[in-house]
Amino acid sequence: DIIVVLFNRDLRTHDHPALAAACENARQVVPLFVLDPALPTGHREGFLAECLADLRRSLRGLGGELVIRRGDTVTETVRLARMLSARAVYTALDVSALARSRQRRLAAECDRNRTEFRGFPGVTIVAPDALRPSGGGDHYRVFTPYWRAWSAHPRRELSKVPGTVSVPELDAGSPPEPGHRPSALFEGGETAARERMRRWLKHGVADYADGHDDLAGNRTSRLSPYLHFGCLSPLELETGAAGGGDFVRQLCWRDFFHQVTAAFPRINRDDYRPRGHEWRADSGAAQAWKEGMTGVPIVDAGMRQLLAENWMHNRARMIVSSFLVRRLHVDWRVGADHFFELLLDADVANNYGNWQWMAGTGNNTRPNQTVNHLRQARRFDPDGDYVRRYVPELGSMPARTIHEPWRSPVAVAGYPRPLVSMD
Ligand code: FAD
Repeated sequence: DIIVVLFNRDLRTHDHPALAAACENARQVVPLFVLDPALPTGHREGFLAECLADLRRSLRGLGGELVIRRGDTVTETVRLARMLSARAVYTALDVSALARSRQRRLAAECDRNRTEFRGFPGVTIVAPDALRPSGGGDHYRVFTPYWRAWSAHPRRELSKVPGTVSVPELDAGSPPEPGHRPSALFEGGETAARERMRRWLKHGVADYADGHDDLAGNRTSRLSPYLHFGCLSPLELETGAAGGGDFVRQLCWRDFFHQVTAAFPRINRDDYRPRGHEWRADSGAAQAWKEGMTGVPIVDAGMRQLLAENWMHNRARMIVSSFLVRRLHVDWRVGADHFFELLLDADVANNYGNWQWMAGTGNNTRPNQTVNHLRQARRFDPDGDYVRRYVPELGSMPARTIHEPWRSPVAVAGYPRPLVSMD
């Protein structure tokens, strides 16, 4: 009597509904992770390797074992389930086009083998298909009514693994080589995630409403990589943040873009641009933007934070994305793909959803998200500390001129003039 639990981006043991249900429903449970060639490569591999090592330790602590296989996720899962004559395969349901096509294939293969396939919640707080707008349609296109419905929606109970996980004798497989340098800022895994969550809920969240837009201060949770890889349950985080309304609202944005992605799977490619709108093919400008050499300090600081840390402050993400599409008139996909390649928290729903939102091309709403870059710089980096940290060429400039070095009578050695007029 065996159930296979396929892990994906839910790399945790706390509040893991599929794992908890498997432990309740079967005598033996086989937690499985497949290192699929379709997984992201590069700098995220180091983080993933740490997540898997930590998950294996936690499962061993519960008496179980994480089984690791290499190859196509569906083929390997079905192969293992057949070898063990498993009764069922459980997994957490996800929304990206890749995840959904995998879930469909897995369900069909399980069906052919007379193995039960069951999908579980856990990737988002409220399931992506749980809320329907009263005016019709299959999902919410506008955030505010979604936020209202989401806030009123009852939550499932947090799930708990009952007792121990008992696993049959089998080859557990080796974890990935830690070939790629792990992130200097984010240690992968549930243990590190829970420690950061604990500190955040105790010391950080109360100050979130006032502090989250302070570019130089480190006053957001920095939990995004952990939420992306599922080292934390977003529901557990929400429960712990009770009272932190502004913070919970950001978690709602995450659910919002997940339900948009579920309804609009080509969110990372297709847009709803006004007819006749053309992007400028300017690879030189796009390259300068990527390198943090646009000559606009607040933009360059954000882009260099991304290069240095594989992470960027949300306010900076808004400023640099708006600069690319509204000032340089470069296609939002150029920027979104660059973000997706570099961000440790790169997430189909959150990344492409936010880019479409900033570019005003989404199928959700089309706000005219015009950002006044200089005003934002002065407001959210009033002393220039954020710029000074990431753009050392401007390190000795005073707060008065640091955001507009082109006004300074002395040119700054090594720092370019702005690519576009900033007047
Ligand atoms: P906090 O402010 O502490 O927020 C807590 C959590 O809420 C975040 O970890 C995240 O999971 C969620 N969240 C916060 N803001 C948003 C938002 N605007 N949309 C969706 N969820 C949100 N976030 C990603 O996780 N992955 C991405 O690939 C991504 N790409 C982005 C691209 C652009 C152009 C923009 C403007 C935003 C993007 N975001 C993305 C959203 C946001 O910038 C990050 O989630 C946030 O900066 C992460 O830092 P934090 O964990 O300290 O956030």
